[in-house]
Amino acid sequence: MGNKKNVYLFIKGKADGDAGMKNLLGGKGANLAEMANLNISVPAGFTITTEVCTYFMNSGGQYPEGLEKEVEEAMQLAGEAMGKTFADPKNPLLISVRSGARMSMPGMMETVLNVGLTSKTMPGLISKNGNERFIWDAYRRLITMYSDVVLEKAAGIEPEEGGGIRELLEKEMEKIKEAAGVKADTALGVEEMKMLCGIYKAKVKEILGVEFPDDPMEQIWGAIGAVFTSWNGKRAVSYRNIEGIPHDWGTAVNVQSMVFGNMGDDSATGVAFTRNPATGDNYFYGEFLLNAQGEDVVAGIRTPQALNEVSKMSGSDALPSLEETMPEQYKELYEIRNNLERHYRDMQDIEFTIENHKLYMLQTRVGKRNGIAAVRMAVDMEHEGLITKEEAIMRVRPDQINEFLLPMLDPKDEEAKQSDKIATGLPAGPGGAVGQIVFTADEAEAWAKTGKKVILVRNETSPEDVHGMHAAEAILTAMGGMTSHAALVARGWGKCCIVGCGALNIDVHKKQIEVNGRVLKEGDYISLNGSKGTVYTGKLDLFLVDPAKNEIFQEIMKWADDTRKLGVRTNADTPEDAAQARRFGAQGIGLCRTEHMFFGPDRILPMREMILAETKEDREKALAKLLPFQRDDFKGILRAMKGLPVTIRTLDPPLHEFLPHEPVNQGEVATELGITVKELRRKVAALHEFNPMLGHRGCRLGIVYPEITAMQARAILEAACALKKEGVEIYPEIMIPLIGTKAEFENQKAVVIKTADEVFKQEGISVDYLVGTMIEIPRAAITADKIAETAQFFSFGTNDLTQMTFGYSRDDIGSFLPEYIEKKILPVDPFQSLDQEGVGFLIGHAVEKGRAANPNLKVGICGEHGGDPASIEFCHSVNMDYVSCSPYRVPVARFAAAQSVLKEKG
Ligand code: ADP
Ligand code: MG
Ligand code: MG
Repeated sequence: MGNKKNVYLFIKGKADGDAGMKNLLGGKGANLAEMANLNISVPAGFTITTEVCTYFMNSGGQYPEGLEKEVEEAMQLAGEAMGKTFADPKNPLLISVRSGARMSMPGMMETVLNVGLTSKTMPGLISKNGNERFIWDAYRRLITMYSDVVLEKAAGIEPEEGGGIRELLEKEMEKIKEAAGVKADTALGVEEMKMLCGIYKAKVKEILGVEFPDDPMEQIWGAIGAVFTSWNGKRAVSYRNIEGIPHDWGTAVNVQSMVFGNMGDDSATGVAFTRNPATGDNYFYGEFLLNAQGEDVVAGIRTPQALNEVSKMSGSDALPSLEETMPEQYKELYEIRNNLERHYRDMQDIEFTIENHKLYMLQTRVGKRNGIAAVRMAVDMEHEGLITKEEAIMRVRPDQINEFLLPMLDPKDEEAKQSDKIATGLPAGPGGAVGQIVFTADEAEAWAKTGKKVILVRNETSPEDVHGMHAAEAILTAMGGMTSHAALVARGWGKCCIVGCGALNIDVHKKQIEVNGRVLKEGDYISLNGSKGTVYTGKLDLFLVDPAKNEIFQEIMKWADDTRKLGVRTNADTPEDAAQARRFGAQGIGLCRTEHMFFGPDRILPMREMILAETKEDREKALAKLLPFQRDDFKGILRAMKGLPVTIRTLDPPLHEFLPHEPVNQGEVATELGITVKELRRKVAALHEFNPMLGHRGCRLGIVYPEITAMQARAILEAACALKKEGVEIYPEIMIPLIGTKAEFENQKAVVIKTADEVFKQEGISVDYLVGTMIEIPRAAITADKIAETAQFFSFGTNDLTQMTFGYSRDDIGSFLPEYIEKKILPVDPFQSLDQEGVGFLIGHAVEKGRAANPNLKVGICGEHGGDPASIEFCHSVNMDYVSCSPYRVPVARFAAAQSVLKEKG
């Protein structure tokens, strides 16, 4: 490492580095270099590379050979550029020592300002500058930051809550202010500041047992080491864990000449965004403080003033803007804003300081933004000719598209009501919701009917709660994980949902929740942020954007549609869901499950009769009662999807799911069916399976009871014929679930064809239809070439396929999945994002073999993965024809499909 370059200079007009060198120089260092190259006024300085940080960490705090000399030389050159010299008693240079990793980790690491102030340099500064109070104030800040960052944190001292050196020093300041009878820091005079610095130094000695360093070189190396050490500080480590940033990247250190925004009323400091990051609107947005140093703006010590007229918000309204106060500097800043946007071709988040009327830029980086702002900026920038359509599409994360579809809690209101936060759970269904607490599904439905907005609070939810979940604004459960029933269903509906909120003690009988000593009762209002998992008491403000009316949304979606190759269908069981999905751009139904249709109050009885029937004859009688219901359901769905394909799956779940298991319900049902409770219980017992998910379900039902498949095929095709007679265009596709062998498929296909022939003869008309299969058993994937000889389409049921490939039961995975993720045995929940290596291998194999055997084979995916961007990219890569997902994921899927094409292009 001896001859490697460790230090990169940046001086206005020339820099050793540039914006492309983020890995080596960190984001801050690379962008400071870039601005210097653009001839923007950046205080001169240099960057010590991230490689030095890794060396420092791996060698137990050593620096590579030659670093000291490189730093000294760079310091000399930076000082020359500023007309000052570090440690010089007459005309000393002061510096800041700033952290800066490859990816921005805002506020997670440390920075020390005003380094270089000592008993020797201060008199020189005072006589040169003439502002004695200012120098003592700067010294006070140095003592505070340095003892906190270097002498305490980097030294590994972990003080008790409230006993940190920074807090202790701030208390001393309060005492002095009290004694002087003033409120603002700025009201303290020279003598008080001097006294304060003395008190500070004594306190540091008393608490930390060391003398505050009075040697500039000791200060600078102390600060550099502390910034490197802060890479492994607690905050930084946990932030990296959350964001998935590798721990071995390290941070760079930027050593930069200080400029002072606190030199008087001709000085200022501020933070700005080149466009509004909350709305995306194209105007310069920001805040500043007169006579202040950088950290004051962020810390919120004083109310900042608006940069310009458009940035004025309540609170800063009364105060003059920078544009009014310093028109010349504002104009210059505005030009830099335009310059930076043109150069980076993206919204920038900038820090600036004005020292005695002279403007300096201290930082620029691509600014963070919410989804709605991201889309607005991308579309605007394309219109402005700044970026291409392709770039515009790549600027938005697919998940951000979702923000257009959901009501959200107003972030400002959330900020203001932090004290009303009562608990946090898993963010299972995004968006926000406000409503009154109810404890049962029936109550949810009843209250909702009277026009009340309710939130259904349960320990956990079961399929029997579905009506209540549908009626509720949102669902909150104490148990369950991200793949739990409630979470899954809520996501499908685009409904706000928080699960696994363990702090809630729910007492359904007393109808109350006890949470951290507070008691909430039925009818009390709560507000949920489903994107973050936070629960508040009371009503927070909501806001909603209608995507159909949003031109910007429509425009970017059109670009995405023009780009993508994958079709996007939806999973929908009802005409309402189908219509909703169509409005969101679905190009057909990829999975219509028929089992939900049997739960309606008028259908469940004949369904149970069918299950209890001892003879084929009795079974057919019961099925005949179900036929008209099913036909009407299919008519509704096919009509809602007119002109588009609709894949309908024949009965899939094991039959016991349709029978009552609770003794209380059994009596009632037995009476309805006209049998004894004993008989009913015998049947329930007979249908009991040890492993129902691997039991008598899917095509196995239709093979043992072909009359069930026949009834369903008849219902579908009679509906199709009736609609065709009305002139409605329909494209039914009948899908056989859970095939493992070709013979299974052929058996069911024969039943369908025989029924179709009967129906067409009876109706005197025929319709085009397809018969295909779900591929959800590994054996089916492996023997796909055989199955494709007769199947007209494949739809990958990746929930079951994942379940059976891993041998994990999706319903029981909660007991070990968290541990698996934490121990990195699995990178992510394979039920949320497709396991490309294993399950994906089977899919790739099946697509290739299937198409080789049958070139016309249509191939798609249904199941949760169809709405997950990473899984969609995989589906694109194996050349599927379409993905199918829940209605509220359709726009996300359209968008992710477009990005898949662009990513492939590179
Ligand atoms: P962070 O990345 O946490 O924002 P920074 O390194 O940007 O940390 O520094 C914190 C604050 O100190 C910022 O407001 C910045 O503008 C200010 N600052 C840093 N270096 C200087 C400097 N050389 N002159 C004046 N202010 C500075
Ligand atoms: Mg900063
Ligand atoms: Mg399945």
